Amino acid sequence: MQRKIIIIGGGFAGLELAKKLRNTRFEVLLIDRQNHHQFQPLFYQVATAALEPSSISFPFRKIFQKVKNFDFCLSEVLSIAPDTKQVFTDAGTFNYDFLVIATGCKTNYFGNESLSANTFSMKTTQEAIEIRNSILLSFEEAAVNGIDKQNGLNNIVIVGAGPTGVELAGAFAEWKRHVLPRDYPKVNFKLLNIILLEGSKNTLNALSDQAKIASRKYLEESGVEVRTEVYVTSYNGYDVVLNNGETIKSQNVIWAAGVTGNVINGLKPKQWFEIVMW
Ligand SMILES: Cc1cc2nc3c(=O)[nH]c(=O)nc-3n(C[C@H](O)[C@H](O)[C@H](O)COP(=O)(O)OP(=O)(O)OC[C@H]3O[C@@H](n4cnc5c(N)ncnc54)[C@H](O)[C@@H]3O)c2cc1C
Repeated sequence: MQRKIIIIGGGFAGLELAKKLRNTRFEVLLIDRQNHHQFQPLFYQVATAALEPSSISFPFRKIFQKVKNFDFCLSEVLSIAPDTKQVFTDAGTFNYDFLVIATGCKTNYFGNESLSANTFSMKTTQEAIEIRNSILLSFEEAAVNGIDKQNGLNNIVIVGAGPTGVELAGAFAEWKRHVLPRDYPKVNFKLLNIILLEGSKNTLNALSDQAKIASRKYLEESGVEVRTEVYVTSYNGYDVVLNNGETIKSQNVIWAAGVTGNVINGLKPKQWFEIVMW
């Protein structure tokens, strides 16, 4: 009898494994809460309207169209029961012989509810679209009322200068210089600030000294205001409050300051360890 492998998550890891298992003796079921693979490294291009979402979205059923030992289920995995080898989802229960958990990461707000409620994050295509739409709507407002310091239309704030924050800040700076003035000729984009806030001493702090220095130089030369050793303590949708008491007005704040794992209920910590070792 064919042995059944369930893969939870069709990101880089799950998709690659499912491809390796094409036309093997296993029955493969891929479960994901999205019906498509999303190419995360290009989210920033969607957020800055440089790419259509469809350019970075790849439907699983299309990828595996002619693969006989493959099936897909669009659902959210709620929990698993390793003892009975079952996966519980919002679309039903599935049995497996082997289980692969490849659920990736989600945004980490470190328990700060004002940040999770009011900032944008960029971990899905949908979230990248939301950033794009909010910022474009702000520029439409600026086209009518001008860029106004009082309503925060003059500041786009990105929190976290890791790869995502740096990439996004650089893309916004290019957007501001090369694209927006042509689309919105009546808006004075010299008044628009792209502000990148970082808690550690450097941009790309986890990378080499060369990367730290070069990224900061590039961003500053592109017109990004880079501020390091500063923490955001709260944001109510209008005021970004910093740990030094300072406030920055902004309607568009993107949180790129942390990730944490998408943990599935049902595994004890020791079982996670055994799975990693295996
Ligand atoms: C903005 C951004 C830019 C990046 N740029 C780069 C880059 O330039 N270079 C680079 O190497 N890396 C980059 N990365 C990191 C890279 O995208 C990740 O390391 C990679 O996607 C991790 O792959 P994964 O398969 O572990 O998880 P993911 O790709 O996150 O896939 C996880 C999948 O699991 C699904 N899932 C999660 N929980 C459940 C559940 N409970 N039920 C059902 N489905 C679930 C999700 O829908 C998703 O499809 C970037 C990431 C981001 C966010």
